[in-house]
Amino acid sequence: MLVLPGLVDTHVHLAQALIRGCADDTSLIDWLQNFVWPLQGNFEAEDGKVSAELCMLEMIKSGTTTFLESLLHSRYGFDGVAQSVDDSGMRGILSKTVMGLPGYGTKDSIMHPGMIEQAETCLREVEDHFEHWNGRGSGRIRVWYGARSLGGCTSELYKQIASGAQRLGTGVTIHLSEVQEDVRFAQREYGKLPAEFIDEVGLVGPNVVFAHGVWLTEKECRILAMKGASVAHCPSSNMKLASGIAKVPEMMKDGVNVSLGCDGGPSNNCYDMIREMKTASLLQKARLLDPLVMNAETILEMATINGARALGLQNEIGSIQVGKRADMILVRLREPHLMPTISPLSNLVYAAEGSDVDTAFIDGKIVMENRVVKTLDESRILRQASERGEKLLERSGIRVESKWPKI
Ligand SMILES: [Zn+2]
Repeated sequence: MLVLPGLVDTHVHLAQALIRGCADDTSLIDWLQNFVWPLQGNFEAEDGKVSAELCMLEMIKSGTTTFLESLLHSRYGFDGVAQSVDDSGMRGILSKTVMGLPGYGTKDSIMHPGMIEQAETCLREVEDHFEHWNGRGSGRIRVWYGARSLGGCTSELYKQIASGAQRLGTGVTIHLSEVQEDVRFAQREYGKLPAEFIDEVGLVGPNVVFAHGVWLTEKECRILAMKGASVAHCPSSNMKLASGIAKVPEMMKDGVNVSLGCDGGPSNNCYDMIREMKTASLLQKARLLDPLVMNAETILEMATINGARALGLQNEIGSIQVGKRADMILVRLREPHLMPTISPLSNLVYAAEGSDVDTAFIDGKIVMENRVVKTLDESRILRQASERGEKLLERSGIRVESKWPKI
């Protein structure tokens, strides 16, 4: 088998595993307003826990050992989710949502009432969760600020997030320049490009991970590079929602640390970093008409050490080295689609899929062996996810229908 450092997924929505397949073939704003927000606005804490368990089961079974959850709203039940991360044995950073305004991108995209939270409560909850959970599970669990994207916070609130993170010595993650509407919004509201604005409120630094960055300009990338911030590239999500193609090779040339992310159940629609690696590589080759960009080595670095660097964990994980934590995976090579093994790295990036991962160690502990996850009860989670997913859809009043007639 092939031994690798555990994969690091730097943009995950745990709560979206339960709404996989509920919002397909539509663009981001409609996707959010008419499907994702109403569904998530009807979550109960138990839905949040089951969704997180389902998501972690999928991540472990496809080789991810560390993840960054980007927006945990209170109604998903932070404590239940954090407890399930602890039980799963995974290394997880949980970012509690901080928001102050109910919008996104445009003034008319108003969130579902079930998703709206008050700024003061959000800030207090981050501190409470940080105090209770940060460092638990022998340091596997961390708590960050999950700032809502432009239109969801006032300038003042962004400044409070930046100073809060400074004070606690923790990180911040935020969606940035995902769609063109984000750029138009920043220019209209602030007369600036999104990264220029977010820099002005103090939110560009080595402890910040920006999700997507599809529409970042060279000027903005230079700001990010200079201040040591990272971008979590989510190619499948950007393609499926038709958000655009991030200029990843150019960003890297500008000195930005770029890692990979699977995003969520209705946007990807899976949490398989091995599939994401291939997508990330092929997308840039096709865009630039250049087969030399995004080679297998670069892609694997994005999925491991660049991810570790984005999370400030480069001295602990992201490569197999003496002195680092033992987060490792074993990938089966004796499969028809992985033979011959002349170039194991090529096979991994261009031919493998998540289900080829056989064994996973996290923090020296065997979390999966021979594809059996030891820390989570797979059959119970699958049953509950199926039941709760259907009930949630019913409660939200959303119908998912095939475009084909039923006969
Ligand atoms: Zn996202």
